[in-house]
Amino acid sequence: MTEGGARSAPWQTCAIVEIIQQTPSIKSYFLRLSEPFAHIAGQHVDVRLTAPDGYVAMRSYSIASSPSASNVIELAIERLPDGEVSLFFHDIAAVGDEIELRGPLGGHFLWPERVTAPVLLIGAGAGVVPLMAMVRQRRALAQTAPTALLLSSRTRRDVLFADELLSLEMADPKFTLALAITREPPERACDFARRIDGAMVAKLVARLPRMPAHVFVCGSNHFVNIAADGALMAGLEAAVIKTERYGG
Ligand SMILES: Cc1cc2nc3c(=O)[nH]c(=O)nc-3n(C[C@H](O)[C@H](O)[C@H](O)COP(=O)(O)OP(=O)(O)OC[C@H]3O[C@@H](n4cnc5c(N)ncnc54)[C@H](O)[C@@H]3O)c2cc1C
Repeated sequence: MTEGGARSAPWQTCAIVEIIQQTPSIKSYFLRLSEPFAHIAGQHVDVRLTAPDGYVAMRSYSIASSPSASNVIELAIERLPDGEVSLFFHDIAAVGDEIELRGPLGGHFLWPERVTAPVLLIGAGAGVVPLMAMVRQRRALAQTAPTALLLSSRTRRDVLFADELLSLEMADPKFTLALAITREPPERACDFARRIDGAMVAKLVARLPRMPAHVFVCGSNHFVNIAADGALMAGLEAAVIKTERYGG
């Protein structure tokens, strides 16, 4: 699907059916689509808010849920203290409210359809959202491609979807999770106590049976620059690295 083609996705109204506080700064919003669509893990939607005076604010949010027959999708939104749309979601939006969105959008940051080669996923903060959709899709399809996920966050409490990821790692020997915790000592020996760098990415690559054929990096602009540089320093080919930048 091309980005241009995806842009023709029509706007639809959906209802917030559930809200879950996932970390101190990130909540999940479960939205019931009025026009269900099939998406590919990694894609996002555009959300449009319209004030009574006609003022419109539009932002993109990755889809956290795996593609399925369900007509409910999950978005996970980080509260930015001076943010416009994220503050609306965190401080005003409630179950039962209706939101306008269009999608699915995005044609480059996509979980490969028939993947067998190793995959490396690197994210920070809400940047784990599309990576989570990929991990969930891999599990839903019972795929066995060796997959390593490197997640950076300030503290253990800030790790989005931590419990689900830790359970998945326990159940699947071909899925490896490593946390890069920057503001407190890590709880597990396989985790790291610093920001992501080339040496850390190289250690993750060494936990895979061979060099990854697909690398997905997602987070703020600053994080993506650092993590993508780290991947290059670890010897990965630029051609296999795909990035999704959230701004900031
Ligand atoms: C393809 C795509 C998918 C995205 N998916 C998600 C998602 O799943 N979850 C999510 O929480 N966000 C996601 N974002 C970011 C989201 O679109 C908004 O940019 C974010 O919610 C901030 O919007 P706001 O209106 O609250 O802040 P704004 O009012 O737009 O900005 C407020 C301030 O925060 C700064 N800022 C904006 N974005 C960031 C950022 N990411 N990190 C740090 N500072 C920032 C701005 O420079 C500004 O100073 C995604 C962005 C893109 C492009």
